[in-house]
Amino acid sequence: MKEVDVVLIGGGIMSANLGALLKKLDPSLKIHLYEVADDFAKEASDGWHNAGTGHAGICELSYTPHRGSDGEVEVTKAVEIFEEFEKSLQFWASTVREGMIDSPAEFINPVPHLSFVHGEEGVDFLTSRFQGLKKHHFFESMTFTNDRDEIKKWAPLLVDGRSDEPVAATKMDHGTDVNFGALSRKLIAWIGSQDDCQTLTRHRVTDLKEVESGWQVSIRNEKTGERFEVRSHFVFIGAGGGSLPLLQKSGIPEAKGYGAFPIGGQWLICQTPGIVSKHHAKVYGAALGAAPTMAVPHLDTRVIDGKRSLLFGPYGSWTTKFLHEKGSFSDLFQSIRFGNLWPLIKTGICNIPLVGYLIGQGLQSMDRRLTELRRFYPEVEKGDWKLIDAGIRVQAIKSVDGDAGIVHFGTEVLTNQKKTISALLGASPGASVSVNVMLDVIKKCFPHLLEGPPLAILQALIPSYDRDLKSNDEAEFFHGIHEAALQELHLSKKPESRPPAS
Ligand SMILES: Cc1cc2nc3c(=O)[nH]c(=O)nc-3n(C[C@H](O)[C@H](O)[C@H](O)COP(=O)(O)OP(=O)(O)OC[C@H]3O[C@@H](n4cnc5c(N)ncnc54)[C@H](O)[C@@H]3O)c2cc1C
Repeated sequence: MKEVDVVLIGGGIMSANLGALLKKLDPSLKIHLYEVADDFAKEASDGWHNAGTGHAGICELSYTPHRGSDGEVEVTKAVEIFEEFEKSLQFWASTVREGMIDSPAEFINPVPHLSFVHGEEGVDFLTSRFQGLKKHHFFESMTFTNDRDEIKKWAPLLVDGRSDEPVAATKMDHGTDVNFGALSRKLIAWIGSQDDCQTLTRHRVTDLKEVESGWQVSIRNEKTGERFEVRSHFVFIGAGGGSLPLLQKSGIPEAKGYGAFPIGGQWLICQTPGIVSKHHAKVYGAALGAAPTMAVPHLDTRVIDGKRSLLFGPYGSWTTKFLHEKGSFSDLFQSIRFGNLWPLIKTGICNIPLVGYLIGQGLQSMDRRLTELRRFYPEVEKGDWKLIDAGIRVQAIKSVDGDAGIVHFGTEVLTNQKKTISALLGASPGASVSVNVMLDVIKKCFPHLLEGPPLAILQALIPSYDRDLKSNDEAEFFHGIHEAALQELHLSKKPESRPPAS
């Protein structure tokens, strides 16, 4: 039986970042990565399965939903997300600088981030949000306008054909569109090229058994049917929707009582060159009705395989599958255990409006979908848009969730007491903050890599690793490292060098 230091289950953005970070910090590590699908990152991390927004708190109104006692919009969460995304930017920039991966335009592109509101209440909200954010050095370059002509210059589709209602928008030019799938594949290719490392597709991890030296991992080759076992000191379950079933198989007490609630999604996409070329922005609006926070609509430029297109959504949908490509409609039912039955029932009862919303969203006609899109793009024409599937978000449900608020449940990393296994559950804010989340795994399970020579390596890879970038005292340091990362990722490009509309 092979013995390794680290087994990574799943070839999405989480395992890709963790594997690359670990191998950089300790080049002697033997790392194996197993992915069940025919290629890496074809589930939630795939380019078409998520919105590719480099979430930095710039445009997402859902990160700033509350007003403080003074009536002003609270912006703390947006500042935190910005700081977390900055760590991702710095790490990815370092991987380019060090030649681990190349051609950054294949996975990250500059796309301005806009928030757009209409109606008096929306304009008042955005004005307060802007005033709160603008004071912070992260958001210094943000601009605000309630002048239609100005908004038309920023994003003409939003204004043409719109009624006279008040409108307002904020904009920051240094927003990003990220193809997390392409990035994962590049990082995994680098891991696979390193000594003592192996990355395999079409290999399903079927079981996990705790042994004295760590874990015995059972694997099935999906092509040949061959089964084999690997022993590993540490296992990371980065299997996205497949994480909960594996966590349950591990039998660790920390996993008891956890359940999962999958939320499917769909996008409308447009690839008509005349329309795509008129919109170069990610435009986020406010949540609608019963929509969960992660279903706040947005009209986005997407850059995939060097071509631009427009994407609108997400539309939620009801599903019982945990994985898009390799999942089964029995996934939800198979995840039911005695320990999570009550939280699941309670969640179902408390979220009947959400379930109704998801079923309604999934079944709605194209005309109804376009009515939603018309709130952003009044002159939309049906023939230019088609519906495609987005990825599945598998939200974690905990037995201690008093009010069973699954839809507000973010990313959660579960680690056993011996620190020999970690699993990632949940999907928000997701891929953008994956580096920060994986640094937490390293902090918990590989603390020796955060001191001495490995710490110096980490500080070179992520200069803000152990600094408080949010602090006013760090403003100058932030501007320096931020600009350097933008340059290394080729994000300081002029608009005319944008990729062509497809
Ligand atoms: C509709 C939607 C929109 C989103 N928009 C954004 C966004 O704009 N910005 C953002 O930052 N994030 C966004 N996210 C979240 C982001 O996509 C996810 O957080 C992220 O991709 C999760 O990465 P992962 O590596 O954990 O999982 P995944 O990418 O799903 O990877 C898990 C992998 O594990 C494999 N696997 C599963 N079971 C097994 C097994 N038993 N053995 C071996 N392999 C297995 C799967 O095949 C898969 O390849 C969005 C998500 C969705 C669904």
